[in-house]
Amino acid sequence: MHLTMPRAPQPARGLHQMPARWAIDHAAARQTLGDLHDAYQWAVYAHTLAHRTNHSAERLDAAAMLAPLAALTGHVDQAVTTYRDLVDLATAELGHSHERTLYARAGMAEAHHRVGRCEKAIRDLADVYTTAARRHGPEAPVSLKTLTHLACLYRDCGWCDVAQRCLTVAMTIAARYLPQGDPHGARITDIAATPASENHRAVCTQATPSRPALTGLSSSTRTA
Ligand SMILES: [Zn+2]
Repeated sequence: MHLTMPRAPQPARGLHQMPARWAIDHAAARQTLGDLHDAYQWAVYAHTLAHRTNHSAERLDAAAMLAPLAALTGHVDQAVTTYRDLVDLATAELGHSHERTLYARAGMAEAHHRVGRCEKAIRDLADVYTTAARRHGPEAPVSLKTLTHLACLYRDCGWCDVAQRCLTVAMTIAARYLPQGDPHGARITDIAATPASENHRAVCTQATPSRPALTGLSSSTRTA
């Protein structure tokens, strides 16, 4: 599972569109076709072009394209750096609790988790969930996806009981608010049946858990 910041609505473009925007679109097209490494190269190019401009929207979209692709193609340090840049840009442009900013913060937490900064990753993602549930409601897609992903981080660190608590809350909210057959409900069920990632074990730093506070769960349970 990978959290990706949704793209802003894209206006129709003509021959005069900016080179960075064209490269962003090309990276997105390559990603849609499943060619992640080619998409990553185009995203690097788009990011370089966007940083030469003063267009904050292009810089934001270029970072939003590059950060998850860097993570997915194994450029873990670049993913952390780009996510940090993305969070700063999104916060300045959209505000601290905007949905796209929350997805950016969730992505950065995931990037930290991939390199074994487990306690920080879980604490940051729990904070994202708390903000999302308060600002957008526990049933909002950003809240449910963040909570479900938090369960994955706990599970991969070996904290199966806390992971199960997160999933139980997510299932309760999904059953109450999502329409029958909603794909996210099925996704939560799939994750509940998925074992911990073997890849994470090699980098995990939570072999002896020091459980961080789960501030988001009590409020979501109450609100749901
Ligand atoms: Zn871990």
